[in-house]
Amino acid sequence: MCGIVAYAGPNQAFDFLIKGLQRLEYRGYDSAGIALLNGDLNIYKQKGKVQDLLDETSGKNIEGTTGIGHTRWATHGEPNKVNAHPHLSQSGDIAVIHNGIIENYATIKEALVKRGHTFLSDTDTEVLIHLIEDIKQHEDVDLFEAVRLALNEVIGAYAIVIISKDDPGTIIGARKGSPLVIGIGKDKKEYFMASDATPIVEYTRDVIYLDDNEIAHIKDSELTIKTIDNVEKTPYIQKLEVTLEAIEKGGYDHFMLKEIYEQPKSIYDSMRGRFNQTDLTFAMRSLREYESKIKNLNRIIIVGCGTSWHAGLVGEYLIEEFARLPVEVEYASEFRYRDPVITEDDLVIAISQSGETADTLAALEMAKEKGATIYGICNVVGSSIPRMTDAGAYTHAGPEIGVASTKAFTAQVTVLTLIALGIADIRGKISKDRLREIFAELEVLPTKVQEVLDTCSEKVIEIAKRYKDVDHCLYLGRGINFPVALEGALKLKEISYIHAEGYPAAEMKHGPIALIDENMPVVVVAPKRGYYEKVLSNIQEVKARKGNIISIVTHGDEKVAGLSDYFVEIPDTEDCLVPILATIPMQLLSYHMAVMRGCNVDQPRNLAKSVTVE
Ligand code: GLU
Repeated sequence: MCGIVAYAGPNQAFDFLIKGLQRLEYRGYDSAGIALLNGDLNIYKQKGKVQDLLDETSGKNIEGTTGIGHTRWATHGEPNKVNAHPHLSQSGDIAVIHNGIIENYATIKEALVKRGHTFLSDTDTEVLIHLIEDIKQHEDVDLFEAVRLALNEVIGAYAIVIISKDDPGTIIGARKGSPLVIGIGKDKKEYFMASDATPIVEYTRDVIYLDDNEIAHIKDSELTIKTIDNVEKTPYIQKLEVTLEAIEKGGYDHFMLKEIYEQPKSIYDSMRGRFNQTDLTFAMRSLREYESKIKNLNRIIIVGCGTSWHAGLVGEYLIEEFARLPVEVEYASEFRYRDPVITEDDLVIAISQSGETADTLAALEMAKEKGATIYGICNVVGSSIPRMTDAGAYTHAGPEIGVASTKAFTAQVTVLTLIALGIADIRGKISKDRLREIFAELEVLPTKVQEVLDTCSEKVIEIAKRYKDVDHCLYLGRGINFPVALEGALKLKEISYIHAEGYPAAEMKHGPIALIDENMPVVVVAPKRGYYEKVLSNIQEVKARKGNIISIVTHGDEKVAGLSDYFVEIPDTEDCLVPILATIPMQLLSYHMAVMRGCNVDQPRNLAKSVTVE
C-alpha cells in the first residue's frame, strides 16, 4: 500500500505529482505529501486525502522540475502530518518516499541515535533516509552509491524514490517486494516513476517495470539501472496497454459502481478467445504448455487473500467437480508461515488482482523453492506475480480502482472456470457433450450478467433502504455458493462498516442461528439448482425464528421467493456459473447500503487496495 510518484524532466512536476497521487489514492489515504526541488527542497504534507494536501499547497511555492509524492497507508506510526512522507535526512537535504516496511528499522535507528541522529517521526521510512545520508557522509560516496550500500543493510520490502537538494534533475528509485514503474517520456528527456502505471499513461506508453533488488538512477536525463550488487542492467522497455478512459469514472458516481456495471464486458474479456465452441477446444497457452505436467498433477493448492481467496474457494468446487483433482485453498498469509508439504507434482495457483499482494508473492516464492509449478491469475499486466510464475492467465478485467473488489472477483471466477474445464479436458475427466453445454452457457453469460444489472437495481435499492441501518447481517449459501456468501458479507463489511458474516447455510444451526431475531437480515443464495430443497429448509429455520430473508433466486422461483421478505431474481444458468450471477445483486446491495449510510465506498476507512505489505 502507499502510492508513490516521482518526476524529473523539463516541465513543472507539481501537476503530474498531484494527479498521479489522486490516481494512486486507492493504495492508501491516511496522509499525502510532496517534495519539490527548485534550488530549495520544499516539502508539503497533510493528514488525510490528496485534496487536503492540495489545499495545504495553495498559495505556496510549488515550482520545481524534480519532485516526489506519496499517499500513505500507515504501517509504522499513526496517520498524522509528522509521519506523512516524504521524510528527510538529518541535514534536511535528502528526501525519500517509501512503500513497504523496513523490518530492521529499530536496530538501525538505535545505532544512528548513538551517532547523533534525531528522528522526528515514528516511521520506519525516516530511518532509511538517515541511514543513506550517514553512509554518504561517512563513506564519502555519491548519493546513488549511498543508496545502494544502505539497501544492502536493509531487511524488508520497499519501493523508494529519493531526491536531494544537491542533485537537481536526479531521482533514484529502487524496489524490493513493492512495485515501481518507470515511464520514459518525450525524447527520453523526462522520466516518471509510480507504484503502478495509472499516473504515467497520460504522458507516455513506454515503461520499465523495475525488478526486485534493482536501483534506477535518473541523472541529467540519462537512465541507468543497477542491481544492489552493483551489476548494470539493460532496461527492458514495454508498451503500456491500459487506456486513460479505463482509469476514469466515466460519468458514474463512484469507481465501484462503474466497475460493477463493467462486468458484462470484463467477464467477456476474461474468456474471449480462450475456448472454441465449434471444435470444443481450449486456446489457453498456459494450459497447453503444461499439458504433461497437468496430466501428472497430484494436487492443486490455491493461495490468495480477501476476495481473491473467495474466488479460490469457488475454484476449489469447480476444479474438484470437473477435473476430479484434490484442491486446497489457503490464505497466503498463513500458508507462507507454515511449512506446508509441497511436492513437484503440485500446482500452486496464486490469485491476486494487483499481482503485488505481498503475502501471495511470498507464498509463491516458497512453493517455487519447494519445486511446485506456480501459476498466477492476476489482473494487472506486468505486475510481480505474472513475472515470477511459470505460467498464468490474466483476468483482463481492466483497471479496478474501487478498493472493494467487484469485477476482478467475477473475472477471477470466470478464468477459474476455464482452468477447471481445461484441466478436466486434458485429464479426460469431462465429456465433449458436457463441455458443449457449458461453453454454450459461457457464451451467453455476459448477456445474463447484463440482464441482472438491468433488472435488479430498483429492487436492490428498495432492500438497501429497508436495511441500511442494521448493525449485523448474515449471508448464507451452500456448495459452490458458500464462497459467494462469504464474498457478499465481505463486501458489506468493507464499504458500509456493517458487521456481516458468511456461513454455509447448513452451519447455521451449529451456532449462528442464536443470532437470529426479527432484526437480523439474512441474505441467502438460493438458486433453483444445487441443494435447492436443502436451502429451502435452512430458510424455514430462519423464518421460524423471525429472521428477515433476502433471497437471490432463479427467475420464476416461487417457493423461496414466497418465503422471503425480499427476493432478487437472476436468470437460470449452469450450477458452476451461478456464483457469477449471484454475486452481482450482493455487490449492488453493499454499494447502495454504503452510499445511503454516507460511506466513502471507493476508499473505505482503514483499507487500501493493493496490499504490498505483510
Ligand atoms: N512503512 C511506511 C509507513 O508506515 C510505508 C507504509 C506502506 O507502504 O504501506 O509510512
